[in-house]
Amino acid sequence: MSDFNFSLLCGETGPLTTASRPDMLRLPMEGMTPVLAVGEQVLAGARVAVGNGPDKGDLHAPLAGTILELEPHSMLIEADAGGRTEPVSPCAEGGEPLRRWLKSMGVDVGLMYKAPTLIINAVPPEPGISVYEPLLRDYRKTLQLGLDTVQKVVEPGRMFLVAAKGNQSTAFANCTVVHVTPVYPNGLDPLVFKAVLKEEVLPGSRPDKATILSVKDLYAVGRVMETGRPVTETPMTIGGQNLLVRVGTPVGFLAVEAGARLQPGDRAVLGGPLRGLAAVNLEQGVDKDTSGLTLMRQDASLETTDNFCLGCGACERHCPARIMPGMISRCAEFKQFQRAEAYHIHSCMECGLCGYWCTARRPLLQYIRLAKYELALLAGAHAPTGPTDEELKERTGDSQC
Ligand code: SF4
Ligand code: SF4
Repeated sequence: MSDFNFSLLCGETGPLTTASRPDMLRLPMEGMTPVLAVGEQVLAGARVAVGNGPDKGDLHAPLAGTILELEPHSMLIEADAGGRTEPVSPCAEGGEPLRRWLKSMGVDVGLMYKAPTLIINAVPPEPGISVYEPLLRDYRKTLQLGLDTVQKVVEPGRMFLVAAKGNQSTAFANCTVVHVTPVYPNGLDPLVFKAVLKEEVLPGSRPDKATILSVKDLYAVGRVMETGRPVTETPMTIGGQNLLVRVGTPVGFLAVEAGARLQPGDRAVLGGPLRGLAAVNLEQGVDKDTSGLTLMRQDASLETTDNFCLGCGACERHCPARIMPGMISRCAEFKQFQRAEAYHIHSCMECGLCGYWCTARRPLLQYIRLAKYELALLAGAHAPTGPTDEELKERTGDSQC
């Protein structure tokens, strides 16, 4: 990977095309409470699970079919030729009622909160992911509708569109354009915040001063408003092609569609090459927030090892958060998770550059994610619990605001 290109320039991109229809869908159920059981039939667009907590959007069937399996992490649906649910009237209110309605329609609303500044992130999240380009070029009306809707919740005093210099950057009304250098990791939210606010925010936090949504978030909200149908698709880049993919489509199906022949030892990564997550197997389905599928050949992948840290400092020199990934990885390796906090682990934006440059080929990002997970458990953080029976009854009625 020494010749890896960190450029975020997209060049000429084709239109967004719709991926083929799979026979089976494996819907991710992380953070969801199912409302249907094995054997039940669903229409396309029917709610199959509600999102736990106040932020996670509900889950709807992208295709009609029968639920064959229900496991803690996935729901398997065998698609058939059944019909689809009727569209609903878009919510005409603003503020919290609109936010709740969008959540019930499958939109993740964690970053939709009242803030004086709204930032639209149009910088590609990773090299090779170009899906924002066709959205910005061909779906202006949908994005504008999404932005108008989001404004009713955020109520911002000022708005910014942040784009990589050289990519699409046509502004929306009342939106100031800010350009950043088209090099990874400049599209990650903490760095986009910094480009606009001129100050740093802790990764994963919800700063009072501003909130940030991606072009893809605007597209999801815009589609819900213009169709009255829930989110059941995700725009993503696969092998340079931009596709609209049904949530739950297995990665193996998409690899075949992209013309790739996977060999034993190859990896399918949900997301980009630097910070994506390897699929557990080829049956794993894509999620609503999946923006890309990266196929890595065994002989072209970075081989990670359990080598000792050499203390060479290469990881530190490339870390955009200016922390010490080598030391944090040692804390994680020896289960001294709380010690990792003294090395500012929470400033890590999970860009993956340290692991890429590590002389000893240590899996640094994975160590850091493990330490963060363990620290969250030590702090008593739990995943949001599912709704009570009463709440479930209330939330599975018609989607009205
Ligand atoms: S992933 Fe590594 S390089 Fe990136 S911010 Fe975290 S510690 Fe720094
Ligand atoms: S680059 Fe790798 S070997 Fe060098 S200090 Fe960082 S973790 Fe240790």
